[in-house]
Amino acid sequence: MIKITDLHKSYQMGSASLHVLKGVNFNIEAGELVAIMGSSGSGKSTLLNILGILDEADSGSYILDGVPIKNLNETIASRYRNQFLGFVFQSFNLINYKNALDNVAMPLYYQGVGRKQRYETAMHYLEKVGLATHAHHLPNELSGGQKQRVAIARALASNPKVLLADEPTGALDTKTSYEVMELIQGINDEGKTVLIVTHEPDIAAMCKRNVVLKDGLIIDDKKVEQVRATAYV
Ligand code: ADP
Ligand code: MG
Repeated sequence: MIKITDLHKSYQMGSASLHVLKGVNFNIEAGELVAIMGSSGSGKSTLLNILGILDEADSGSYILDGVPIKNLNETIASRYRNQFLGFVFQSFNLINYKNALDNVAMPLYYQGVGRKQRYETAMHYLEKVGLATHAHHLPNELSGGQKQRVAIARALASNPKVLLADEPTGALDTKTSYEVMELIQGINDEGKTVLIVTHEPDIAAMCKRNVVLKDGLIIDDKKVEQVRATAYV
């Protein structure tokens, strides 16, 4: 599903250059649930942004579902993002003046899906995350965990090949984090490929594979015995 070879990325700040990814290699197969770990500043978000086609590496190759991701213009990049990827962020990134249903329907609008189908699909995914009853609530009428569920429904609405989540539980208390992980595990159980950035070991233990980044390199990559979130919630 994802093949990354010798990926490098530096940031230029004036005359200084910060080498953040220093030759990252890994493959992710369809159906995996991978945690990317590492301390703050180790390059996790940089890597995830490249995987999400929100940013581009300086060198190396990235192949997503057989498609080389290289030198794309913004139109093609956004088409690939829509077609292949769903995003979840620590800070939810919901649109504050739109209700839950409209937030979830949003990516479908950009894909040209008609109004009726948009709302049917959005409602289906809100049901899936257990929030059909909150379809007409604005984000500020939802708890943190509920907001993240809406964001997950939005990420799934266009049926992406891969779900990318950058510290999806980073703003949530422990119990709510485990509830969100229970949802993510269920989505992965159905076959969706999921990549989570986290620096919390208990969250990583709920994935099936842990990749550790340090100073721009992968220093560990191993399968783990998955802890079910339901053991806690
Ligand atoms: P992590 O997500 O693991 O905390 P990041 O990938 O966000 O790490 O950042 C890695 C390093 O790159 C950090 O030192 C950070 O300050 C720097 N960095 C990240 N984004 C930029 C940017 N747009 N411009 C300059 N430096 C950046
Ligand atoms: Mg980060």
